[in-house]
Amino acid sequence: MEKKELDWENIGFGYRKTDMRYVANYRGGAWEEGGLTADDTITMSECAGVLQYAQTCFEGLKAYTTEDGRIVTFRPDLNGVRMEDSCRYLQMPAFPKERFVEAVIQTVRANAAYVPPYGSGATLYIRPYMFGISPVIGVKPAEEYQFRIFTTPVGPYFKGGAKPLTLCVSDFDRAAPHGTGHIKAGLNYAMSLHAIVAAHEAGYDENLYLDPATRTKVEETGGANFLFVTKDKKVITPKSSSILPSITRRSLLTVAKDYLGLEVEEREVLLEELKDFAECGLCGTAAVISPVGKIVDHGRDICFASGMQEMGPVTKQLYETLTGIQMGRIEAPEGWIQVIE
Ligand SMILES: *Cc1c(COP(=O)(O)O)cnc(C)c1O
Repeated sequence: MEKKELDWENIGFGYRKTDMRYVANYRGGAWEEGGLTADDTITMSECAGVLQYAQTCFEGLKAYTTEDGRIVTFRPDLNGVRMEDSCRYLQMPAFPKERFVEAVIQTVRANAAYVPPYGSGATLYIRPYMFGISPVIGVKPAEEYQFRIFTTPVGPYFKGGAKPLTLCVSDFDRAAPHGTGHIKAGLNYAMSLHAIVAAHEAGYDENLYLDPATRTKVEETGGANFLFVTKDKKVITPKSSSILPSITRRSLLTVAKDYLGLEVEEREVLLEELKDFAECGLCGTAAVISPVGKIVDHGRDICFASGMQEMGPVTKQLYETLTGIQMGRIEAPEGWIQVIE
């Protein structure tokens, strides 16, 4: 298969239209048979549920080329399960996880020419999403839905090395207790835009959100979960029912335990104990792990021993091992790698 002629190392992070996308419609109480289309536009009622009351959720995963030249994705079954959970909570019909994985495979296969070559650092980002498409004016769930998947090639996340980030403790809240923080709903992102623009204007890379009830516990950032490393090399991640269950974070905990022999713990993490940790990282599909060098809490600097120049040693080991598994250089646990072709 002929690859597209793209400057893979410099394609950046914008949306770039690829050849084919997947579409399936839910009508009359059932999912119709979906399929691929070249049409990248959507026509819908001016009163569609998604436009009026934000009834929509999404997923994000990547396809890439392994060292031995296969095109693969990483644990797409978990994205399928998570999307089912998101749908149920938003009163949307779940798109069955088996069909989800099949649709991901079909869409990537149809855009194989856009999957960046091994070693470029670039990947093909895959965006499954669903929305209420039928008219809704009284507040209630839509009757008809559309599930779609598009792909777009994205450049290396860390061009020229991973520079540690500076975060600020936000005065805004991301997700209320018993709210929607644990699902991948578009509305969680809409309300984070004001907070992230304010953080960027103040010179910070990201927001650290606290639990809204007590404002003493660490939750996550707008789009990534936290991992902390203690001075005696224990890997700790915050536990809360309003954190989005990151597949990268769950995978990194398995890597820490089973590949690196480290102790791992999921528990409440207090803002007050951050100063005692040696390393801090943010995990998500986009960057796998972004190192954090400093967190600023209303003028008080919390600096991690790993500093502002490079990833901490344990963070780096975690990063190298998981990306090694993804790229086929290290043997993966059963079921983690879905081969596309
Ligand atoms: C998607 C997302 C993450 C990262 O999840 P991955 O499955 O690792 O990509 C973390 N936090 C939030 C709020 C997210 O939406």
